[in-house]
Amino acid sequence: MTKFQCSIAISLVLLQCLAVHVASQSFDFFYFVQQWPGSYCDTQQSCCYPTTGKPAADFGIHGLWPNYNDGSYPSNCDSSSPFNPSEVSDLKSSMQNSWPTLACPSGDGEQFWSHEWEKHGTCSESVLDQHAYFESALSLKQKVNLLQALKSAGITPGGSYSLKSIKDAITEAAGYTPWIECNKDSSGNYQIYQIYLCVDTSGSNLIECPVFPKGTCSSEIEFPSF
Ligand code: 5GP
Ligand code: 5GP
Repeated sequence: MTKFQCSIAISLVLLQCLAVHVASQSFDFFYFVQQWPGSYCDTQQSCCYPTTGKPAADFGIHGLWPNYNDGSYPSNCDSSSPFNPSEVSDLKSSMQNSWPTLACPSGDGEQFWSHEWEKHGTCSESVLDQHAYFESALSLKQKVNLLQALKSAGITPGGSYSLKSIKDAITEAAGYTPWIECNKDSSGNYQIYQIYLCVDTSGSNLIECPVFPKGTCSSEIEFPSF
């Protein structure tokens, strides 16, 4: 083999490694995370409504996060794949409704979506491209109506409930056990902040969570109004 042929052969092997690396899915499941806007706003940091107006009094998407079974997770996996609004222009109004941003200063959501894509979405690029990633999250939100599930169990904004009754109501409606994350209101009371459901690596099917994060709630928690 000439030196030239040898370097071609080496390049081919390297290319193949790269292809296998890109094609292989390197996470075990997703957390699908939704936030209660009343609990994002009702803290010491407070919030800002999007430039498109006050969001609905409903759970909003926070993100779809690739995770490992041991509880750790990959992040910022591909700096060569920035968020590109033109790839999801057909989903924009659904995203504004279902994935509103509440951070300050007010924005139309692009910064939030961009952060979520770059930190989390790039780590599941082997199965979901940008359009499929946002579309999957939107359709997961349609699968389980969290607010309706809670209301059906008599759990409505403006009250205080046992953590167990909240988990039971969602388990009943979703068919899978959720994980509830709490934060504290401005007086220091624990309140329901985010609800996690687990999803298989295709991004479409709910599953039982392989692992739950560390608890952040007390046994009785607030469900503030928004
Ligand atoms: P916090 O530290 O407030 O719990 O989380 C901050 C951010 O870290 C989250 O919004 C999310 O981006 C990321 N994060 C926290 N816990 C997890 C996790 O268990 N899995 C994944 N994939 N990301 C997480
Ligand atoms: P994560 O916690 O997913 O790493 O990051 C959330 C980032 O998105 C933070 O930098 C936060 O300022 C920004 N962000 C923008 N809008 C929202 C929102 O409505 N909720 C949350 N939790 N973060 C938001």
